[in-house]
Amino acid sequence: MAIIGIDLGTTNSLVVVWENGESKIIKNQSGSEITPSVVSVEDGKILVGQSAKERLVTHPDVTVAGFKRYMGMKKTVQLGPYTFSPEELSSLVIKKLKEDAEKYLGEEVEEAIISVPAYFNNDQRYATKVAAKLAGVVCNRIINEPSAAALSCRMKDMRKEQTVLVVDFGGGTLDVSVVECFENIVEIQSIAGDNHLGGKDFDELIARKFCKENGLDFEQLTQEAKGSLLRRAEHCKIILSQEDSSTMYFRYQDKEYNFVFTNDILTEISGNLLLRLKKVMNKAMKDCGKRPNDITDILPVGGTCQMPVIHDYLAHLFHRPLKKLQKGDRIVAKGLGVYCGIKAQNNEIKDILLTDVCPFSLGTDINNYQNPSMPIMSVIIERNTVLPIKVSRMYTTTSEAPTFDIYQGEGYYAKENVKIGCFGIEDLPNEIKGQKVSVELIFSYDINGILEVTARVKETEQEKSIVIVSDQNPLTKEEIEEKRKRMKNMNFADAEENQEVIALATRIYQESVKDVRDEAYDLLYHFLFVLRTNSPIKIKKEREKILQRLHELGNYVDRDVFEFCEGMDDDLYEEMDYEVELRAEKDRKDKVKEVCNRILSAVKRFFTINREK
Ligand code: AMP
Repeated sequence: MAIIGIDLGTTNSLVVVWENGESKIIKNQSGSEITPSVVSVEDGKILVGQSAKERLVTHPDVTVAGFKRYMGMKKTVQLGPYTFSPEELSSLVIKKLKEDAEKYLGEEVEEAIISVPAYFNNDQRYATKVAAKLAGVVCNRIINEPSAAALSCRMKDMRKEQTVLVVDFGGGTLDVSVVECFENIVEIQSIAGDNHLGGKDFDELIARKFCKENGLDFEQLTQEAKGSLLRRAEHCKIILSQEDSSTMYFRYQDKEYNFVFTNDILTEISGNLLLRLKKVMNKAMKDCGKRPNDITDILPVGGTCQMPVIHDYLAHLFHRPLKKLQKGDRIVAKGLGVYCGIKAQNNEIKDILLTDVCPFSLGTDINNYQNPSMPIMSVIIERNTVLPIKVSRMYTTTSEAPTFDIYQGEGYYAKENVKIGCFGIEDLPNEIKGQKVSVELIFSYDINGILEVTARVKETEQEKSIVIVSDQNPLTKEEIEEKRKRMKNMNFADAEENQEVIALATRIYQESVKDVRDEAYDLLYHFLFVLRTNSPIKIKKEREKILQRLHELGNYVDRDVFEFCEGMDDDLYEEMDYEVELRAEKDRKDKVKEVCNRILSAVKRFFTINREK
């Protein structure tokens, strides 16, 4: 029975098998390796792929794309007579790819390995498995997209030791992973990302520059005009990946506008976005203690990596030329094919061992004695821990029916993280109800990134396990705003200087891992404890000591792994620097003018006085 790999993308999907010692991407019925992840309904019939994509423009009301973004959320889409959940829509794509594979292989497919973004949370992974099930295929293994990419890169040369930096830069998100390859082991070391940085930011940058050059106000354009301008900007960006320049045209209110873009212009205006890219790479490398020289291979994946600006910037940061990836959009699929071979115990590759890490910290909430309304996050599995992992922690609780909220995230306070589940032990025997009981919480995070939590009551030996699937949707914009407001209105009774300590410790805790994180946690916990004494002398003494140590930790956390490249960014941010320079120059001139005026009036006064004498 064949095993297939499915690269289930937001924009496009691919299906792959391991065949004759290599990954083989299977073509769909239209002869293309790429199937758009689009679903449409026509006369009650379902269309998937290119034909559905064509209908995005002609029949937008019965056609949908981009549903991968909503996996794991309780959203529905109405397409003609049908109501679909995101997993149902994904299942239609999986089913289509499965059928293409069956046609090619001439046999039934029972198992699929599916790739997902490294930043997919528990619910999203679970929804992906559900989608496979709905499509009539078993998915026992979910692989992170960067792991699949690294696997495909590993196959090129198994002999050398490699530390690969996978930069997966798509339309709306950026994922950066550091992957270590040694002999037959492919091990993800760290993952970092920005869920709000992608190709669409460059589209907007181009659109705004176009408006600026043509005396238009981007904000004042109609919604429709903005959409059309952004599409043209994307087109211009894609042409710039092949050509040195591209002329962008736009008709608005019966007037024709144009501007010639070059890659140099794009580089000049991209400074801020490139800095954000650098920040994510910095985090991924710091989390696993790597420096640019440790990276042996840079693997740009995803459409946005095709931009020469990105290519040049990566080459610039790492001081080396980068290989141009012809088919970067197939790398994940190719790696999935390799994994199919491993899974099928294929002789050529079965020895490869692929390990993954969890992208978020996972834990439960514990009492905050200083501020009981703000429970603290007790981390049970730290982010970037190698999977599979099983960790247990003991907790003491006194409630009638102990309940545990399960959170993921890096916030110090539980409420700053995403609640992914909750479960309780309701059937405690009467004789110990309300008394202190010791509960062992066991977190098992499997290789697919799915969490199972077990609680064991020591006194009664009762045990309860659940696979965490939250009922709660990830936070909406409004919820985030509400959270932000609530935090802002919170009354901090402490003086400003105490707040500084709390804020600094919290930031270090969020931005670090392992020993540094533990120390920041301990320092903050200790400081909150000291604050409760209300003794100004004690608080002052401890504050100074803690602050000094926090500054040392802060310097370590804020270190720039690219610092050896000092000055390198100068030419890149020429325009930014130029603007700063202009401002500085103007300030300087104003100052000189002011000083000259003062001297002049002093001289004048002197002469007037002398003359008067
Ligand atoms: P992905 O999610 O990996 O398919 O990436 C989609 C993003 O890549 C979109 O923002 C596209 O505009 C962008 N993209 C695709 N092809 C190119 C190209 N040749 N040059 C620049 N950007 C591209």
